[in-house]
Amino acid sequence: MELARDVYELQKLDTELDARRHALGAVESRLGDDREIAQVGAQVEATLGKRKCLERDIHLLEVELEGLRGKLSGIETKVYGGKVTNYKELGDLEKEADIFRQQRQKQEEEVLKLMVQFEEVRDQATEGQKELKALQQHWQQEQEQLSTERSELLQAISKLEGLRESAVSRIDPTSLQLYESIRQSRPQAAVRVEQGRCQGCRVALSMNEIQKARGGVIQCSSCGRILYSG
Ligand SMILES: [Zn+2]
Repeated sequence: MELARDVYELQKLDTELDARRHALGAVESRLGDDREIAQVGAQVEATLGKRKCLERDIHLLEVELEGLRGKLSGIETKVYGGKVTNYKELGDLEKEADIFRQQRQKQEEEVLKLMVQFEEVRDQATEGQKELKALQQHWQQEQEQLSTERSELLQAISKLEGLRESAVSRIDPTSLQLYESIRQSRPQAAVRVEQGRCQGCRVALSMNEIQKARGGVIQCSSCGRILYSG
């Protein structure tokens, strides 16, 4: 009677199945998970939006500035052209020109400030796009690798399930039921006896227990696992 060995063989298959199924779960949770890409993509989009806004603001300011320069040069032509000779009128024109000059200076400073911001945002966008592209490439490779891993795991699981079926067929229903019920709380339901100890809970077993564990199905008196003393 090699019942204990058959149960132990079943345990070995189940341990392998557990590991493969666990690995499959981990692989499947990563398959199609593109949250990181979506996050970086959204950041890049936001930066591109900012860049566009700054471009527009700079353009509008430059248009305004062009208008100011036109007005100023019109006044300067009058003042220096010699056509206006009235002092009061010349004085008024000078005052008006001063106001335009101040406005022009303010606008030019504003444009410069926005240009500095624009350059920063432009570089940020370029970096972001580069990062996103690298991330997408890496993700693609990783997904292909995960997909291969998944097929390999499914294949291994299917093979193990076949082996498990034939292992189960060698075990009587009562022993099988006992094994399954221990498995509910302990993944390792059948353990080897090594150096006189249960490898589940490390308790030293009696000679009687060790002898019995060579053939039929007996449980460790301490942890309840099925013992195999092969
Ligand atoms: Zn034990």
